Amino acid sequence: MNGGEGEKGKAGEKVCRRCKKLYDPSSNASSSCRFHPSFFVSRRHDDQKRYYELGPDDPPYAAKFYDCCGAEDPAALGCTVSFHVSYDDGDE
Ligand SMILES: [Zn+2]
Ligand SMILES: [Zn+2]
Repeated sequence: MNGGEGEKGKAGEKVCRRCKKLYDPSSNASSSCRFHPSFFVSRRHDDQKRYYELGPDDPPYAAKFYDCCGAEDPAALGCTVSFHVSYDDGDE
């Protein structure tokens, strides 16, 4: 017996490079993918102009949020909805 891989394996499924989820290209619609177009950033309270990607040595006084929508939870649902884009779609 070799059954059991429930998650993946359906023919033709691809991985979306935005949301990292497996999707079926034949049912890819304009509302299929939720993602954040900008990075999760960390900004100092005393210097609003400087920001950088979140790192392991983040200072505790920094405010962390998505630069696109301001969501403070790294796991927050994407603020933008679009088609899934696979790694080999090349989208300019
Ligand atoms: Zn966002
Ligand atoms: Zn996606």
